[in-house]
Amino acid sequence: MINLETPKKFRPLVGQAHQVAMNLLRPNSRTYDLAEHTYPKELDMLAAMVDGLSESGAASGAGASGVRRTESGSQGPSAQGPSAAEGTRNGSNLASVLSIMEMCWGDVGLLLSMPRQGLGNSAIASVADDEQAERFKGVWAGMAITEPGVGSDSANISTTATPDGDDYVINGEKIYVTAGDRCDHVVVWATLDRSLGRAAIKSFVVPKGTPGMTMERLEHKLGIRSSDTAAFRFENCRVPKENLLGDPAVDPKQGFAGAMATFDNTRPLVAAMAVGCARASLELTRELLSEAGVEIDYDRPAQTQSAAAATFLQLESDYEAAYLLTLRAAWLADNRRPNSLEASMAKAKAGRVGSDITLRCVELAGSIGYSEHELLEKWARDSKILDIFEGTQQIQQLIVARRLLGKSSAQLK
Ligand SMILES: Cc1cc2nc3c(=O)[nH]c(=O)nc-3n(C[C@H](O)[C@H](O)[C@H](O)COP(=O)(O)OP(=O)(O)OC[C@H]3O[C@@H](n4cnc5c(N)ncnc54)[C@H](O)[C@@H]3O)c2cc1C
Repeated sequence: MINLETPKKFRPLVGQAHQVAMNLLRPNSRTYDLAEHTYPKELDMLAAMVDGLSESGAASGAGASGVRRTESGSQGPSAQGPSAAEGTRNGSNLASVLSIMEMCWGDVGLLLSMPRQGLGNSAIASVADDEQAERFKGVWAGMAITEPGVGSDSANISTTATPDGDDYVINGEKIYVTAGDRCDHVVVWATLDRSLGRAAIKSFVVPKGTPGMTMERLEHKLGIRSSDTAAFRFENCRVPKENLLGDPAVDPKQGFAGAMATFDNTRPLVAAMAVGCARASLELTRELLSEAGVEIDYDRPAQTQSAAAATFLQLESDYEAAYLLTLRAAWLADNRRPNSLEASMAKAKAGRVGSDITLRCVELAGSIGYSEHELLEKWARDSKILDIFEGTQQIQQLIVARRLLGKSSAQLK
């Protein structure tokens, strides 16, 4: 089994994240799975701790806040990567995926409910200019892209942002906003002009409580039930012009690139969630198999071992591939190299094998896997979403195919 070492400087971070996952997230996992929509109050203490570490500078990459690409704040990777003098760097992207893997070994839904670590925070960290990054420091931001008629085809969003004086006026509906109820800001994708296509889509930071913004309902779900998922309506909702993230100019040549840059940062994070949850399932299944007298032997070919051991080895190799792809996507971002292809590869692989591994672990453990005595059935439910949001399995494969074949989104749909 390949097992690359965690960079030395991240070992304390990974160790801390593991302690939190083991002592705080795991013990509360079942409670908030059953008590859907109840706020996990234990997370307040944890958030205070993360804030304390951030202030002391010790929490680089503790979550969604650590995905800005360069120290200078410039966005987008340079094609050349770092100069030889700079060497390679293991930065905040790698730190984020490593700590997220640990936290999701604890509980994916609770990680998604961590105050001030929303997907909107990643968008702000990736796209905001320096003034905005400072102004929105410390907010908890959800991300609102999906609409009743628009999911994977996010270039077709119909929510509008109309300039009026010093404001933009937002009108439309957004659904499935993770942490929508608990966050204090929502990053909303809206179009400045539908006739100008994808280039006119911009993201806007909307503080909760802004007149015209209404939370309509919370969803009941298969998994990640400790994470709230909200729907919003925007009716003549005004936000100041300076809340538009990035460049307000509509540049057809730039296309969707500004808004999409966020995904290059967030897809490896979602892949990391799948990897963490899969590892939890594999570890528990290994224990259960061992109790049942099935030992995994790494010195013998899989086909000479029991069917259960051979299956386990196959699942573990899928896990390793997903793990390494995720590290690579994050490492490329840390080293200012383009990573769109690798981010989609990591998300596609980890999303798919995460669902497969967790469900096959239920199967290997039989009735114990299916019952609520263990968390295996919960992990199988939780991991499915990681193959759906931030771009489904099929959409990631489409992006990978386009990149490898050099086709545009118009040429390969
Ligand atoms: C729990 C939860 C949390 C979420 N959180 C957020 C959030 O915080 N913010 C947010 O904006 N959204 C969020 N979403 C929405 C999520 O991102 C979308 O569900 C996802 O993008 C898919 O869109 P859809 O559901 O409309 O499916 P569709 O786009 O309608 O897709 C349906 C099926 O068709 C496939 N498909 C679609 N297009 C193609 C194609 N071109 N080629 C091949 N197959 C295709 C898809 O892969 C999928 O299998 C969340 C969803 C859930 C369930």
